[in-house]
Amino acid sequence: MPVPLEPLAQDIERALGRPTDETGRQKLAAQLIHLLVESKAHAQRRQAELQEFLKATVGRLVQLETALNEANSLNRQAGAQAQQTRQITDAQFLQLRAVSSETDDLDQLKSFIRERLDHLQDHLRQQDQAGDSHQRRLEDHLGQLSQQVAQLSAETITLRSRLDVTTEEALRDPLTGAYNRLAYDRRAALEVARWRSDGGNLSMIVCDIDHFKRINDTFGHTAGDKVLKEVVRLLQEQLRSSDFVARYGGEEFVVILNGAAEDAAMKIAEKLRRTIKSAPFRSRGERVPVTISCGVATFNSDDTLETVFERTDAALYDAKAQGRDRCVHASKKAA
Ligand code: GH3
Ligand code: MG
Ligand code: MG
Repeated sequence: MPVPLEPLAQDIERALGRPTDETGRQKLAAQLIHLLVESKAHAQRRQAELQEFLKATVGRLVQLETALNEANSLNRQAGAQAQQTRQITDAQFLQLRAVSSETDDLDQLKSFIRERLDHLQDHLRQQDQAGDSHQRRLEDHLGQLSQQVAQLSAETITLRSRLDVTTEEALRDPLTGAYNRLAYDRRAALEVARWRSDGGNLSMIVCDIDHFKRINDTFGHTAGDKVLKEVVRLLQEQLRSSDFVARYGGEEFVVILNGAAEDAAMKIAEKLRRTIKSAPFRSRGERVPVTISCGVATFNSDDTLETVFERTDAALYDAKAQGRDRCVHASKKAA
C-alpha cells in the first residue's frame, strides 16, 4: 500500500469490521473505488519515475562500455607495438651474431655494429614517442571513465533523495508542516516497542484548541489556519528533540514524551498550555485569544498504545468539561 493511502486503507478496514446500513455501504464502496484509483495512479507514477531512471542508467552504462572498449583497444595497440620492437631487436641481434662470426675485419664489424645500434636507438626513440601519446590517450580515457562513474553515482544519490522526500512528504501535514497521523502511528508504535524493551517512562499528551470553531467563525478560516501553524510552531519550540508531536486531527495534537513520568508530563503539558495562552495571536490587528486543553496519561506495564490513547482522550474530555484551558492527568480524572 502506498504510504499516503495507508490512513484511508485503515479507515476502510475498520469500517469493514462494523455493521452498516445502505448509506454506509455506498460510502464504503466509494472509498474503496477511490483507494483503488489512487493506488493505481501512485503505482504508475512510481513506475514512470523508475523507468526514467533505468533509461538514464542504461544510457550511462552504454557510454561506459564504449569508453572501456576504446581503452582496451589502445592497450592492444600499445601491446602490438611492443611486440614489433621485440621482433626488430631480435632480428638485429641475430644479424649481429651472424656478422660477428663471419667477418675478420674489425673496422667493418665496428661500423656495422654502430649502424645497427643507431638503427635500434632510432626505433626505440620513435617507440617512446608513440608510447607517450598512447599513455596520454589512455589517461584521458580513464579520466572520462571515472567522470562517468561519478556522474552515475551522483544521479543514483539524487534519485534516492527524491524518493526519501516523497516518503517524508507523505508523513507531513501540508498546512502546518507538522507530522501527520500516519507519522504518529509509526512513531508511537516504535516508542512503545522501545519502552517495552528498555523500560523507563513514557507519557502522552493530547492537546485540543478550545472553541476553535468560534475562532474560525469570528476571524475567518484563513486566520484559523494561521493559528494552527503558529500553535504547531510553539509546541515544537517547547518540546525537546526526543519528544514527538503530530497533528492528529483538525485542531488536535498528540505529543509523545520520552522518559517523562506522570509529574514531568503534567509539567510539560502545563508549559505548553501557558505558552499558547500567552502567545500574541493576531488577525488584522485584532488580538485572537487562543487556549488549549490537554489530556495527559502515563504508560503502565499492562498498557498498549490504544489503552493509553483512550485514557488521554478521556482526560482531555474531562479538561473540556471542567471549563477548558487546563490540563488533566488520566490518573486524576474525575470518575
Ligand atoms: P472544543 O473547545 O470543544 O474543542 O470546541 P471546538 O470548536 O474547538 O471543536 P469542534 O470539534 O466543534 O470544532 C473544530 C473546528 O476545527 C471545526 C473545523 O472546521 C475546524 N478545523 C478543522 N481543521 C481545520 C483547518 O485545517 N483549518 C481551519 N481553519 N479550521 C479547521
Ligand atoms: Mg477544539
Ligand atoms: Mg477537536
